[in-house]
Formats: sequence, C-alpha cells, structure tokens
Amino acid sequence: QAKDLGTHGAQLYDPSMIDGRAADAQLGDDLTGALERDELTVLYQPLVDLSDSRPVGVEALVRWQHPELGVVSPARFIPIAERNGTINTLGLWVLREACAQVASWGGDTYVSVNLSPRQLQEPTLVHDVLAVLQLTGLEPGRLVLEITESALVDDVAGTTMLAEFRAHGIRVAIDDFGTGYSSLHYLTRLPVDILKIDRSFVAELNGTPEGAGITEAILRLSHALHLTTVAEGIETTEQAAELQLLGCGIGQGYLFAEPLPPSQMLSLLTRSSQPPSSLS
Ligand code: C2E
Ligand code: MG
Ligand code: MG
Ligand code: MG
Repeated sequence: QAKDLGTHGAQLYDPSMIDGRAADAQLGDDLTGALERDELTVLYQPLVDLSDSRPVGVEALVRWQHPELGVVSPARFIPIAERNGTINTLGLWVLREACAQVASWGGDTYVSVNLSPRQLQEPTLVHDVLAVLQLTGLEPGRLVLEITESALVDDVAGTTMLAEFRAHGIRVAIDDFGTGYSSLHYLTRLPVDILKIDRSFVAELNGTPEGAGITEAILRLSHALHLTTVAEGIETTEQAAELQLLGCGIGQGYLFAEPLPPSQMLSLLTRSSQPPSSLS
C-alpha cells in the first residue's frame, strides 16, 4: 500500500490519484513525451467471419505502458489526448504503426483504426492518411477508419472527409453504433460502409425477442442500406450463434480473442489460413 510507504514518490501516483483533474493534467503532461519514450504499443483484435470464426480483419487498439502506473487504458487517456491536442500526433502514429504491421503480414486481412472526433477536424487528415498508405504500401482497400456517431453529427467538414476517404477506396465504419444520438434519417445520408453494433446490445442477447430487439433493428437497417455489420464484445458461443442467426456477418470479442501483440495475431492468422489439420 502506498500509504504504508509514506514517501512522496508513492504519494504522487497513489491509485486514488488516477481520477480527478490534477491526475488528468499529470497524465496529459506524461502523454506528451510518451511517443518519444516508446511507451505506446498497438494490439490487434481479430474481426472474424461468424460462419467459420476465421479472421477477416483486425482492429488496432493502442496501449500505454506508463512508467509508474503500468498499463493505462485508452478509455482513460484518449479523452485526455483529445483535450490537450496530443491525439493528432498519437492517432497518426497508431495509423502508421498499424498499416505497416498489417502490410508486412501480406494476404488480404484488413485493419480497422479508430479516429477521434478531433482528428476529423484536422484539415490535413485525408492527406496524412493517404501519405501513410503510400509510405507503408498498404492497399487502401485494406484500411477501415472507425468513427463514433458523435464525431459526425452536424459536422459537414467531417462528413466531406469521409466521402473523400471512400473515393480513395478506404472504408468507413461507425463505431459503438446505437449509443450516439444521430437520427436514423441522418444515417441514410452518411458516407459509411460498416456499422459496428455496440457491445451493450450484444450483452443483452439472451435468446428472447426482447433481448435481440435493438440488435435486430440495427441489422435490418444495415441490410436495407447495404452496409456491413460487425458485432462488438461477443463473449459467449450463445451470443455468436444468435448473431449469426440474426444475419450478422462479422464479430469481435473475447470469445474469439482478446487484443493481441502482433506476433500472436500473426500466428492466429497463419493458423486459420491453413486447412483443418484433421485432413492430413
Ligand atoms: P472501441 O473502438 O469500441 O474498441 C473495442 C473495445 O472493446 C476495446 O477496448 C476492446 O479491447 C474491448 N473488447 C473487445 N472485445 C471485448 C469483449 O468481448 N468484452 C468486453 N467487455 N470488451 C471487449 P480498449 O482496447 O480498452 O479500447 C477502448 C476504446 O478506446 C476503444 O473502443 C476506442 O474508442 C478507444 N481507442 C483504442 N485505441 C484507440 C486509438 O488508437 N485511437 C483512438 N482515437 N481511440 C482508441
Ligand atoms: Mg473501435
Ligand atoms: Mg467500438
Ligand atoms: Mg465499444
């Protein structure tokens, strides 16, 4: 326990300090140098075809190994990076890292990279993303950009950027779909390819019509708009089976794999591209 140690050093990063405004400011300062100190890494979580559980893509998820706090969750530091502006540098670093990694694996596995609302306000974003593809040699068709609904509502410039990405063959996904407040009418005009059903709806699946309500509605909407649907946060075989029955093509979740370091993700890809070993 930090209080037993009674030192100033232990006091500074007392677990209770992880929350609150002072801690935010401290983390924000630390984050500024985190890239140069090599503290950020990217993990990869498979996006699988629900009919055979084989990976068709991966989502890139950033991690921060803080020297005193250990691993800090992106749910904690991404909002801080948004506020202090670090997100633009950080986001492009993740994109470069992920594109280079997935290009090095070859094959046709795609990579899905999260973009923050603030990145969509950067006028050079489209240019920067295209430069990363050029630099890493990743085909545009193998990149998906994930954006949350809140980033898009009433943002004409952001919407124009999405159209530009798509004109270059890059696909766009709406992340955590169903948790924002965009109207359904608005969705029909958005230049997107993929809807990711938020994991809170997947968690409600329990074999009853009530449990499946929202997921079913999103899937029907998605089909009508000719969009691809990805279900997030699948933790049980029952959820996976129900989603497949409801017509969802792609899934992601701890049932298949947690976010993995590149080497483990590559061996998973290599294994699943081989024919079943029982045949030999
Ligand atoms: P997200 O984009 O919705 O990513 C999915 C999150 O759900 C990940 O959390 C993933 O580890 C977690 N997850 C996956 N499968 C399961 C499951 O079966 N059950 C549960 N309970 N959770 C599951 P993670 O990696 O902690 O990331 C949290 C959020 O941080 C992401 O949510 C995304 O919004 C943001 N984020 C992560 N990396 C980046 C990044 O490079 N840039 C930006 N802008 N945001 C990022
Ligand atoms: Mg995401
Ligand atoms: Mg998500
Ligand atoms: Mg989510």
